[in-house]
Amino acid sequence: MIAGDIQGQVAVVTGASRGIGKAIAIYLAGMGARVVINYRSSDTKALMVVDEIKANNGEAIAIKADVSVYTEAEELINRTVEEYGQIDILINNAGITRDNLLLRMKEEDWDAVYTTNLKGAFNCSKVALKPMFKKRRGKIINIASIAGLMANPGQVNYSAAKAGMIGMTRSLAAEVASRNITVNAVAPGLIDTEMITDIPEKTRIEMIKGIPLGRLGNPEEIAQLVGFLASPAGDYITGQTFVIDGGLSL
Ligand code: NAP
Repeated sequence: MIAGDIQGQVAVVTGASRGIGKAIAIYLAGMGARVVINYRSSDTKALMVVDEIKANNGEAIAIKADVSVYTEAEELINRTVEEYGQIDILINNAGITRDNLLLRMKEEDWDAVYTTNLKGAFNCSKVALKPMFKKRRGKIINIASIAGLMANPGQVNYSAAKAGMIGMTRSLAAEVASRNITVNAVAPGLIDTEMITDIPEKTRIEMIKGIPLGRLGNPEEIAQLVGFLASPAGDYITGQTFVIDGGLSL
């Protein structure tokens, strides 16, 4: 742990009630950040994350908001600034999958995946940039996926949204660099969270065989990379996408 590096800074982690977002929130709180746990529906789980952080002498609050809706993203960031006076770090992590072959994919499955993963990142970044501009400091870290970099049959909606996040990361990084704000993306491979529990056991075993390191990643491993980028050690890195996948995309 890189304790103290971001002491007192304020981090918003979208989709932090479970999985990768939860691990990132706990890790950033361990580094000294005051953390906002955003979620869409899991009130109890979000409050448990807050309790866990507080039990380890950290500071956190939970804010319910559907990031795919602009006004809710606005409310999330505005309430963060009201509560903590600033926002230094935004982790666009909230994401969903609705897998199917394109010919069978319903329009609403395309829309839901696009609006949560990509538009959600747009919504939160647009609102968070205002206070970051004022402070002339900020870090935005987008949780993309290797599905945004390589073919994944059955995931055209998800691949398109994650590739969109990677493109957005580059262009936005160039737009805001002069204000001392960095924007990077992390592209995980297969990580052991509820998101992959829908994959049938047999398929999962086959997929793990294809990972050179021979195992799923765990959320804490993603959190450590995000923690590095959020810390001063990452200050000179912008517009980049970091693959963390046990070699799956090799
Ligand atoms: P997860 O366990 O399914 O958790 C998803 C989180 O996102 C939950 O906290 C959920 O909140 C929240 N969420 C969903 N829709 C939301 C919305 N509209 N507004 C606000 N919050 C919302 O997923 P995960 O595996 O941790 O994935 C986290 C991120 O990593 C996603 O962007 C995913 O695409 C990416 N990723 C995951 C993997 C993997 O293998 N797991 C691989 C590559 C990339 P509720 O609990 O309230 O529903």
